[in-house]
Amino acid sequence: MIIPANPGAGYRALKTEIDAAVARALNSGWYILGQEVRSFEAEFAAWLGTSRSVGCGNGTDAIVLALRGLGIGPGCAVATVSHTAVATVAAIEMAGAVPVLIDIDPVHYTMCPADLAAVLAAPPAGLPPIRAVLPVHLYGQAADLDAIGALCDQYGLALVEDCAQAHGATLHGQKVGTFGNAATFSFYPTKNLGALGDGGAVAMRDAGVADKVAALRQYGWRTHYISDDVGMNSRLDELQAAILRVKLVHLDAANARRQAIAAAYDAVLTAGALSPPVRRADAGHVYHLYVTRSLNRDAHQAALRAAGVGSGIHYPQPVHLQPAYRGRVALGPARCRETEIAAGQVLSLPLYPELTDAEVAEVCGALRGLG
Ligand SMILES: *Cc1c(COP(=O)(O)O)cnc(C)c1O
Repeated sequence: MIIPANPGAGYRALKTEIDAAVARALNSGWYILGQEVRSFEAEFAAWLGTSRSVGCGNGTDAIVLALRGLGIGPGCAVATVSHTAVATVAAIEMAGAVPVLIDIDPVHYTMCPADLAAVLAAPPAGLPPIRAVLPVHLYGQAADLDAIGALCDQYGLALVEDCAQAHGATLHGQKVGTFGNAATFSFYPTKNLGALGDGGAVAMRDAGVADKVAALRQYGWRTHYISDDVGMNSRLDELQAAILRVKLVHLDAANARRQAIAAAYDAVLTAGALSPPVRRADAGHVYHLYVTRSLNRDAHQAALRAAGVGSGIHYPQPVHLQPAYRGRVALGPARCRETEIAAGQVLSLPLYPELTDAEVAEVCGALRGLG
């Protein structure tokens, strides 16, 4: 069976380098917020093309820290999408703010600017003022930052980019994560830049925001043992930072390999049962996931499985319909209709850089078999 994602293969491909980095971190005798984290933060910010990045425990905490670092919390609403990892919405509530869930554009699956414009023009009754917009660059592709950024400017809102699935994605040649007031990344093992455990980061240009986020991730300390803010504990550890430094060097090549595999799938899917993903104009897609669309999704998933090809569904249930959120989260005027339709039709094919050409050919054969 060809599995949809394979972080073990990612480790084995770089085993010598990673083992050496792990040994270096272990032998240093310093395991939390030391030289590896500082170096990774500088290298990641340089790779991204921004001034600062602050490592933290995971991509969920990165969102909490970014919002809190920008002063978004209790008494604020934050507009995001329902078609995302639940972490995006959970983090808004963890920061003390109230989420408002905007529908998606059904072609690219990212935040629909028209629904965002509508909710800003006429916010739902009883909602605190919307102070920030949190678009998700879903599946490895940029959200419509031209339109979303213009609305943020018009209404004076903070723009926080959820880049957990989009390390290296671009829009107009510029990397996502450099457009907003802050950007958040996850280094969960299956992400485009994956640790071998949990990790995350917040990236930003503003030094004041960076210093505040760095304080908040460790009890609100700016000086040891003195809390200036009520903080949390969400640190990136030295071992994961050492591993991420190795992975970062290979990230562009890994993304290029993802793009080559995606091109092979695209070529097979031009006239088939599954619709291929649609690229946004002037955007660089890094294919965290290769998400097709099918009007007969469950049967196609079963047929692929029978042909030895695993697949995934991202995501089977929109956040606003999940038990923890159903009936209590605010929605935009489009009522997340396209989100609900997409949840019943999306199907993610196997895609990770270490897939061999033979495995890619096998997946292509199974896709042709669908007719
Ligand atoms: C993975 C992911 C997160 C959460 O990251 P964790 O490291 O698992 O906390 C947030 N947003 C999106 C879009 C994600 O894909």
